[in-house]
Amino acid sequence: MASVDYTKVPIIEKPLHVPPLEEIVDVLSRGLKRTFETVEVSAEDSPDLTKDPYNLVAPGLTGENPVKLVELGGPPYLLPLVRRDKVYDLAALLRHERRARALLAGAGAGPWPYAGVNCEGIINMSVKDGVVEQGSRIVTVEPVGAAKGSAGYLQRRLPANETRTALLGNYVLTDGEPGKVIKVVVKNRIGEANFITAIRETLKEHFGDKVVGLGGVFVLRSGRVKHHVMPDFSATPLCSDADLDGWLHFFEMRAPISYMGTLVTGDMGLDLRVQHFHGFSAHGDGGHYHHDTSPARAHYEGYFAPAAAVLRVDAPEDTHAFGRD
Ligand SMILES: [Zn+2]
Repeated sequence: MASVDYTKVPIIEKPLHVPPLEEIVDVLSRGLKRTFETVEVSAEDSPDLTKDPYNLVAPGLTGENPVKLVELGGPPYLLPLVRRDKVYDLAALLRHERRARALLAGAGAGPWPYAGVNCEGIINMSVKDGVVEQGSRIVTVEPVGAAKGSAGYLQRRLPANETRTALLGNYVLTDGEPGKVIKVVVKNRIGEANFITAIRETLKEHFGDKVVGLGGVFVLRSGRVKHHVMPDFSATPLCSDADLDGWLHFFEMRAPISYMGTLVTGDMGLDLRVQHFHGFSAHGDGGHYHHDTSPARAHYEGYFAPAAAVLRVDAPEDTHAFGRD
């Protein structure tokens, strides 16, 4: 399976508004109180993110080169029917962007040619002078039970020589060095919004037309959480969010789970997915984050870096609005 040639697909870069960290701290400190009872936001050096519970393959989210958000492909390559030609080599993307030292972390489809079936990808990959460290996981839907009549899931780590992904993805691209970032700790959810929606909507309300993007990681320390895991590709066209919900497999999973991904407060005419986080865990629970299901026990801690630009790679020409939740 040949992967997409980056010299032959459109790659557009647009700058984001980068506010001072202190302004983001002020805005989130006030705004997140609508959704969580306890809110602590600060600008500080991130801890070593290679350690538990984050387990990134690089220690930080900043560095000399500007932080960028990368959006690859999009839901129109999955829906209504899969585009099997949309396989992307992420190591090749980093070479194309001339990033010899980089961390790429976030949410997307995983490499179906490796898994043999469609899968979730929790992307967590670094390169240092051309050498790949692969901490990415994939999650597949698996039949369980004696009759194999019900569905479970299986999380696996990709080997270092498997640097492909497919269809769609939202990643933060950074040097992966330690540095100052936004730390957000919230507890006891009292509002409707999920953790990321609460952050995004709070920022959007304050910054308006000046589009702000964050990339980073968070951990849900306690309670339970609703995920979806994509099963193998649908043979029949999925033409609406209702069709999609009937096809996806939803699971309630257990904390602690660490997540990586991106959020952006506007679309900038780039057909962006405005938020997307996937998580993995030591106990095998992983997938696409929707929201916690035990609000009184919700306890999130996250580290986020403001991005200087969005890199839009191979955006679908014919697009649609579903499959973005
Ligand atoms: Zn997803």
